Amino acid sequence: MTERIVVVGAALFDSGRLLAARRSAPPALAGRWELPGGKVEPGETPEAALVRELREELGVTARTVARVPGQWPLKAPYVLQVWTAHLLPGSRDPEPLQDHDALRWLTPGELWDVDWLDQDVPAVRATLALL
Ligand code: C5P
Repeated sequence: MTERIVVVGAALFDSGRLLAARRSAPPALAGRWELPGGKVEPGETPEAALVRELREELGVTARTVARVPGQWPLKAPYVLQVWTAHLLPGSRDPEPLQDHDALRWLTPGELWDVDWLDQDVPAVRATLALL
């Protein structure tokens, strides 16, 4: 049996808007938008991984709120799971420090204006269903 490796994505909300991040690499994914996040490391909880990835990639301090039900297959052996998250008081504003070259805070009416990665589309949909 192949082990699955969890990739965590953040549905990061602030003032009712959702953060989308545009990937700058690898070439196959560059220019597409995603929920920021990354791979859970051995011995790390998904929530801790998400907080770490948001600090590394965006320079923010955030907390996870709730798991979005479901998981979405990525290229094997990866699987995407999503948590809603909020910025902590005093956090810096997100900046694209790693992996991304643009960020957008999307209002509910703008959610489908960006070209989400294919696998992030059902994840974003499931996130909205939760709200
Ligand atoms: O960010 P990182 O490169 O660690 O992510 C690992 C893989 O997970 C990427 O290759 C990307 O395809 C995928 N991913 C995704 N959707 C996200 C975050 C990551 O498909 N929201």
